[in-house]
Amino acid sequence: MTARVLVVDDLFPNIKLLETRLTAEYFDVLSAMNGMQAIEICESGACDLVLLDVMMPGMDGFEVCRRLKSSPTTAHLPVVMVTALDQPADRLKGLEAGADDFLTKPVNDVALLTRVRSLARLKTLTDELRARALASPQIGQVDPLAAAAAEDGLNGRVLIIDDRANSADRMQAALSMVHTVEIETNPQVAIMRMAEENFDMAIVSLGLANFDALRLCSQMRSLERTRNTPILVLSDLDDEKRVLRALDLGVNDYLARPVDRNELVARVRTQIRRKRYADKLRQNVQSSMEMAIFDPLTKLHNRRYLTSQLASMINDGLMRGAPISFVILDVDFFKKVNDTYGHDAGDEVLVETAARLRRRIRGIDILARFGGEEFVIVMPETDRFAATRVAERLRQCIESEPFTIHKGARQISVTASFGLAVMDGRMETADGLAKRADEALYEAKRQGRNRVILAAA
Ligand code: GH3
Ligand code: MG
Ligand code: MG
Repeated sequence: MTARVLVVDDLFPNIKLLETRLTAEYFDVLSAMNGMQAIEICESGACDLVLLDVMMPGMDGFEVCRRLKSSPTTAHLPVVMVTALDQPADRLKGLEAGADDFLTKPVNDVALLTRVRSLARLKTLTDELRARALASPQIGQVDPLAAAAAEDGLNGRVLIIDDRANSADRMQAALSMVHTVEIETNPQVAIMRMAEENFDMAIVSLGLANFDALRLCSQMRSLERTRNTPILVLSDLDDEKRVLRALDLGVNDYLARPVDRNELVARVRTQIRRKRYADKLRQNVQSSMEMAIFDPLTKLHNRRYLTSQLASMINDGLMRGAPISFVILDVDFFKKVNDTYGHDAGDEVLVETAARLRRRIRGIDILARFGGEEFVIVMPETDRFAATRVAERLRQCIESEPFTIHKGARQISVTASFGLAVMDGRMETADGLAKRADEALYEAKRQGRNRVILAAA
């Protein structure tokens, strides 16, 4: 895995030192010697990760970090603060400024490369989500990146999985100020709870007495429901190998015992913020994808989706020599429904029309809301005779039962007109097929509405 790492330090030899080590591991290294320069580079999108010195003249590392983390364009960039060993309070200040991790000077090689690698991997995942969120249409939505960056990481639900009662109780007390915290001593129950309840993260003791905690972590990583839930492991001081193993398994962070209470609070908050950031992007992608293919009022597919499918359905039909029928229907005098009973009543009629149609088509047909009060049904492997029968049945299902409006208070009768075009054997474009159906619909309207007209071949 390679990544572009920005090293920020006011002293050139320090930059050189980190650059040499990172370059040896095939990372691309950029450098900045002050905060403003660092922010500019980050905003330009030139780096994937920041190693940030705390002590710099002018704007110090904390301030740089705060600014990066509060801007939607840079909030997703992992920031590792580089602090002096004799300033333990700096670690905490860094985490509170939103830093994702910290390293102490002189920087230990294993720690450096582990941190940089795992954060670079995280950045790759986040980038993908960001790209998808940005690429999807944002109809009437707030900027997903800004919303995600505004996440504060508070009021989370945390499960502590630890069988040492004292230690678990102390952590619970520390975290309960800002989160809801529960303790589970039985690892098997814990994994079920993680999958079934909505926890924001898990804290797992690596020293569970009768259970391999690494196995627990790997199970959580493989379960769909817990795959993206952050895990922080607690290690004993001499346990570096197991910590590395845990990080390899996809554990997000670790803390060595004895647990520093403030550091615990800060790290948990960082993990929860990160998770919610990713969740928000994911939800955004999900709802934009739905919006891109479904009509929100009727929950039918929309015209865009229909268009995207139609060409390949036509190709398929041609290849197999199977006919395709295209039915378009338009509610009669719909404007009058709106004008007489109100726009909401009109909406009720559209929703009910969609429901009646949906009940009467096959799984392989596509039913879409084509526009205002127009619907289209595309039926593969359906010739003109079968299609005419179907269209006639659909016409009757609208006409035969009155529609309920005003939330059940009133009933009105509704009809619709149908145009039908069939592609049978001869090559035709999607537009051509739709146009012929539309002309047949126009003819149905002209002849007095509430009828099915088959387009001439
Ligand atoms: P015709 O029988 O010739 O089809 O007449 P019509 O009144 O049905 O057709 P027209 O095209 O004149 O009017 C369609 C109306 O549908 C106009 C538009 O305001 C309304 N409409 C479009 N979309 C919606 C919607 O989502 N909800 C509601 N309530 N009305 C809508
Ligand atoms: Mg109409
Ligand atoms: Mg119309």
